[in-house]
Parts: sequence; C-alpha cells; structure tokens
Amino acid sequence: MSTTEALHGSSHALFAMHAYLPDGWRRNVLLRWNDAGALTSVLADAMPPPDAAHASGPIMPGMPNVHSHAFQRAMAGLTEYRGDARDSFWSWRDLMYRFAARITPEMLDAIACWLYIEMLKAGYTSVCEFHYLHHAPDGAPYANRAELAERVTDAAARAGIGLTMLPVLYQHSGFGARAPRADQCRFVNTPEALLDLLDALRRARPEHGGLTYGVAPHSLRAVSPEGLRALLDGFSARLPHAPIHIHIAEQTGEVDECLTATGARPVAWLFDHVDVDERWCLVHATHLDDAETAALARSAAVAGLCPTTEANLGDGVFPAQAYLDGHGRIGIGSDSHVAVDWRAELRLAEYGQRLVRRVRNVLASERRRQVGERLVDAALAGGAQATGRATGALRAGCRADWLVLDAYHPSIDGRPPGSWLSGIVFGEHGETPISDVHVGGRCVVRARRHVDEAQAYAAYRAAVAALMND
Ligand code: ZN
Repeated sequence: MSTTEALHGSSHALFAMHAYLPDGWRRNVLLRWNDAGALTSVLADAMPPPDAAHASGPIMPGMPNVHSHAFQRAMAGLTEYRGDARDSFWSWRDLMYRFAARITPEMLDAIACWLYIEMLKAGYTSVCEFHYLHHAPDGAPYANRAELAERVTDAAARAGIGLTMLPVLYQHSGFGARAPRADQCRFVNTPEALLDLLDALRRARPEHGGLTYGVAPHSLRAVSPEGLRALLDGFSARLPHAPIHIHIAEQTGEVDECLTATGARPVAWLFDHVDVDERWCLVHATHLDDAETAALARSAAVAGLCPTTEANLGDGVFPAQAYLDGHGRIGIGSDSHVAVDWRAELRLAEYGQRLVRRVRNVLASERRRQVGERLVDAALAGGAQATGRATGALRAGCRADWLVLDAYHPSIDGRPPGSWLSGIVFGEHGETPISDVHVGGRCVVRARRHVDEAQAYAAYRAAVAALMND
C-alpha cells in the first residue's frame, strides 16, 4: 500500500493517526512543512484537513547516524576469518588499510551512494561521515584536495540522506608524534592543509538544510596536542558552533599508550586540555573509568556508540547504565557498517549490558520503563546534536525527516503504542517494520524500496568486483 498521496503538492501536509512526538505517541497528528524541507507546525489531536495526505501507519522521527566510514561498507563480512590466533582490532586495521589503498574516487562514490541508500531504508535519515581518505594512493593530494570528500558529499545528495561531513585530521601513527606509516599516506594532512580542504569543500558544496560541516581530529594517537589546538582554533574561527568528532578510547591498548605518553587516560586528557562542550561527539568512549564516565555524562557532549562494530572488533562494552543514569547523552553510529540498522545498534547496546550483568531491562529508568523508548529518545536527541543539524524530532523548526512504520507489521499490529518502539528494537522477524522514509519532506523510500536502488546497486557491485579483482 502506498503510504502517502500527493506529498509533493503545494500543501506539504501529512496527517498521521499515530505519531511519536517529543512527549510520546500522540493521536491524529498533522504535520506541515515548507519548501526548504523544515517542519512549520506539528499539531496533535487535529482534524485531517482536505489538503493533507494520510500516512499509512505510525510515524516517528528519522534516526541520525553519528559515525560512518563509508568505504568500509565494501569490506563488511570479508574479515571474518582467522588469520592469526591473536586477531584483533589492529590486525583488522591492517586489512582495512590494504582495502583503502585501492579505492578510486569512482569506487568511493558508488560505495557511499549504495551505503546511504541502505541507511535510508533502515531508517537513518542523517549521517555524520568521519572522512579520512583524502589523497591519491601514493599519498599525493588530488588536484582538487577535496576530491574524495566531494564524492562522498555528492553520493549523499544523490541518495537523499542528510549529511554532516567531517573531514578528518590524521597526522601520526601513534602517541609521541610517531611518523605515519606508508599505508596511512592517503589520510595524512597538516592542520592547515585540512582546513584548506574544508574551505575548498565549503566553496564547492555550500551548506544547506541537508548538508553541514564539522571537523574530526582522528584520535589522540593520530593528532598531536599542538595539531589539535591548531585545528580547533582554525575550525572555530570558521564555524564556531559546528560539530567536532573524535575517536577517543576504543581499545585498551590505546588507553595504555595514552597513559604512558601523557600520564592520563584519553577521556581524562581531553577534558583536561580542551573545553569539551555540546559541539563534541566522543566516538567509541568505550573504556572509561568511573571519573571519566561521570565527567562525560556531566558534560553536554555526546558519546557516539557503535555497538555492532565495537562487538565485531572486540573493543569492549561501554558503561551505558552508569552513563545514562548520570544524564549522559548518546548517539549511535554504524561505523564500519557490519550492520546498517539503528534497531540492531540499540538492541546490542542493551544486550551487552544484560550479558555482562545477567539482568534484564538494564537501560530502562524509573521514568522511562520501556527500554526501546528510552534508547530511541536518547539516540534521537543526542544523535541530532552530534549532526549539528535540526533533526531528530517531529517539532516545528526541525527537518521534515520521518519514518512511516508498517501498521500491519507483527511488532506493531494489534499491540498498544507504548510497546511499539521496544517491539521494533527487540523484535527481529524478517521484513523491516520501516515502510517509507521521508527526508526534508521528500519521500526517498516507498514501500521498502529506494527510488534509485537498482541503479545504485549496479554501480556498487561493479566497484566491489573491481576491488576484488585487483
Ligand atoms: Zn570510526
């Protein structure tokens, strides 16, 4: 069944019998939005006006994805074999570098476009792209320094997903400003060169409602304290309110090296040296001691959780209960894209806690007893903050980004609305409950199909085949 009719008419109105608003599920909700793709009004308990299309099922905000390395999509599933009895994040990284070394601009474009279509079909309507593949395979900058970042930006526009492009500063192969390895040559920039790249990108692809920019110092191991300062100063002079993302404490080996090099753990070091405010997203803040957990929760920063990738890489378990109970903010990311499904990320965030603690419903609270609702609310709010874009809620002023759920899906059909989000997060029974996806008011997925998916898949498949044959 088609979800909506006449969505592109001049009225820009949608009536939904059930909609998930900031205060929970409401009935008879009328959305209106403008030509720029922003919601202009959201009214509950409304009458359906004659000009409004009708949603075929319950609607909810689209989910922001706070962490993506698009090119890694093409290697998902290719590293699940034992090469060494001590396979780890670091041996996976060697394989990933070999893969990255062969990617051309055309391949990156095709891989990113297909990935973003997969994200849309899964209900992610925004993505933060942590983009560190900058140069040609020999390490020389392309004639256009922003060549690869532009390809990713254009792929997002074609797919129709909201994008926060985060060019990444990578300087060193380890603490103490160790020289980069040969297989890191495509990533390496000075702070000044990275800011030049950002300037070129912003000139070529100016910001609009569906596109914004931030910056990402890769990690404390790959960026020196001086480099971090220069980057943040230069970036804040340009975009004083835009997001800053960093990989922070993914691996225990990284924490140990940070302690040896600086005398402090990574999150503690960052809080001691930088004003970590609401602009920041700390990705993989996996290894926190109690003081770091409390400090991060007290700050206005977002912890970027990527549970399926963190499980796949054997990273560890984030202290989610203490952090959420301390009012910490979270977003979720698909990172290496072993899964492209926000429901799977939230499910694993909770299951990691259950398996470690041997109790159930760990990430519920007294006020939010449905685990699914608490996690969805947190990931929408924190995720939107990390994008630096007005999204993540059905509220006037936000982007008109929403998902239409299938009213006849077994996780929803015949059940009370209060169970729906837990039902779709914890239920996994084949077909997705997400039927249609709208971004900036535009329908990009209808009846579980993206408008361009056949063509995008053909290009993706060709890119993968070329990578495999190299
Ligand atoms: Zn990452």
